[in-house]
Order: sequence, then structure tokens, then C-alpha cells
Amino acid sequence: MAVTSDPIATTTTTEPATTPTPAEPMTLPVIPGEHPNEAPRLVPIEVVPGKALYKQILPGVMQVPLDLVLAASRKSSLWPMTFGLACCAIEMIATYMAHYDLDRFGIVPWPSPRQSDVMIVAGTVTKKMAPAVKLLYEQMPNPKWVISMGACATNGGPYTRYDRVLQGVDKIIPVDVYVPGCPPRPEALIDSFIALQELVMEERGNVGR
Ligand code: SF4
Repeated sequence: MAVTSDPIATTTTTEPATTPTPAEPMTLPVIPGEHPNEAPRLVPIEVVPGKALYKQILPGVMQVPLDLVLAASRKSSLWPMTFGLACCAIEMIATYMAHYDLDRFGIVPWPSPRQSDVMIVAGTVTKKMAPAVKLLYEQMPNPKWVISMGACATNGGPYTRYDRVLQGVDKIIPVDVYVPGCPPRPEALIDSFIALQELVMEERGNVGR
């Protein structure tokens, strides 16, 4: 009886056994006299129970909550969107000029809602303009804040009897700080920014909108 065998099945290739070569121990060049004071730092530290480990390893490191750092960063870089509705906008523009130096507070006027933090509603909000104001507010990223500048933006001001004027911009968007006056002076707008900075620090960790 003839037995046929599959040459492919019976052919086995045996790899020559390779023995791993032991890793060469890494030697660092020793430079005599260099960093003589480093050796004591390389001994294991003794962990003191009840004391934070990072304070033992890195003395002098400051530990603060992350929401505090984020809030401090936000309040120090408030970017108001540059748009105005009526005569209050002239005072707002004056506030942005060099005489008042808003940059010292980290306040930089920004001509786009996409990167702005603050909307200053400066002027009369008519019912025709209200949808555009709301759209601009919705285009701003979170977190965002609103300053209602002047009597018109707050409650209609001198035009409160007119049906075509919105009786306060807070009817369509939330307002964080109100600035009284007709028009408010630049110092009043700066004061509202300082109040807003305090608000940002107060609501740290609870910024939802
Ligand atoms: S509050 Fe006075 S200054 Fe400001 S927009 Fe109204 S009318 Fe003009």
C-alpha cells in the first residue's frame, strides 16, 4: 500500500535558536567635581505621615484649586465684543482709547462674537434690532457675560414710552452688570468691568452659561 505524504505539510522549517544577549549596563560618564551637592538629594526621602507628599518632594510648590486658576485667568482676559447701538457706544469707544488704558485689566476689544467673553449692550435696543443682539449673544462661546450700559439698554431710558423700543435688554438675554447713566462715563464702564471681574471670581467652578 502506497502512502503519499503532503510535502508541504511534512516540511517544517526550524529556526535556529537565538539566545537573547543580556543588556549592557548603562554607564554614565563621571565628571569629577561636577554637581557635588547633588548626591544628598538622591537618597530616598522619609515620608512623614500626615504631611502632603508633594510638599516633601517639592518644597515651595504652591497648590491651588484648578477652578480658582481658571477663574483668575478668565477675569484677567475679558474680551468685550465691539458693537454699539446708540450714543452710549460713543462713551464705550472712548473707554477703549489709550487715555483709559483698559489693557491693564486684560480687557481687549474684539471684533468677533466667536472669541468674545463679554457683550456690552451700549445703546437703545429696538425691537427691530433685538433679534440681531440675541443672535450675536448666542454666537459667543461659554462662559460669557453681559453688561447693560446706560438707561436705554437697562429699561428703555428716555424712549421707554415708545412701543418700538425694548424695555430692557434683559428681556431677551441675561444681564450680569447694569451701568446707570445717560450716558455713563468711561469710569462707570470701567467700574462695571471690575464688578464683573469680582463676579467671575465668585462664580468660579459654577460657570454654566
Ligand atoms: S442711555 Fe442716553 S446716552 Fe445711552 S443710548 Fe440711551 S439716550 Fe443715548
